Order: sequence, then structure tokens, then C-alpha cells
Amino acid sequence: MDKERLIASARTARGQAFAPYSKYAVGAAVADASGHIWTGCNVENASYGATVCAERVAIFKMVSEGRRDVRVLAISASNIAPPCGICLQVLSEFATEQDSLMIYLSDSEGLVEEFTMSQLLPHPFKL
Ligand SMILES: [Zn+2]
Repeated sequence: MDKERLIASARTARGQAFAPYSKYAVGAAVADASGHIWTGCNVENASYGATVCAERVAIFKMVSEGRRDVRVLAISASNIAPPCGICLQVLSEFATEQDSLMIYLSDSEGLVEEFTMSQLLPHPFKL
């Protein structure tokens, strides 16, 4: 998967963010094993607990279309922002490579930082 293409997809998705409360727009893009890119943006709600992060929107879109295999994730925000704990846990459910899955974090200035799944969530919950 082309890293720059995936990050660009996350940036584009960020433009669709519905964030009237926090004003904090986030875009995410995941690529599945076939190379298909699934994007998401954060969708806030007046009942704050109903808000869904960009990462989970992207993953849930992928799952709802029949895929179960995240190979790589990119996130775009105003700053370098790792996924929240809930999103990391959801990602771990569908990560093809639990330890080495790459997560690219990009800010609005074009800075990119890279982490592996195991760096951000070394001990995911498993049944
Ligand atoms: Zn999250």
C-alpha cells in the first residue's frame, strides 16, 4: 500500500468530519488486504457519547462491506494524534498483523509519524 496515497485519503476524509462541538476534525483511512481503501471521519452528536471516531467509521465501513482484514491505517488531524483506546481495540480485532501493522499519523502541516500497532496497544483485550 502506498503510504502517501493512504495519508492523502485520510486528509480528504477529514474534510467530511462532522465536528460542530469539538471543532476537532479527524480523517482516517484503512487499507484491506486487497489494497482497497476505506475512509472515515469523526461524526459527533449532541449526545456526546453517540460520537464515533474517524478510525472506527472507516473500519466499520470495511466490515459492513464484507472485509475483515486491515493491513495499514492512516489518520489525519490538525496535530499528530494517535487513535484513542477504543479505536485501537477495534483495530486489533481486524488487524492482519497484530504487532507490525503500521499506523501513520499526519498533521495539517504535512508532518507524518509512524508507529506499529504493538507500540500503541501492546496488550489488546482478547477472548
Ligand atoms: Zn477513537
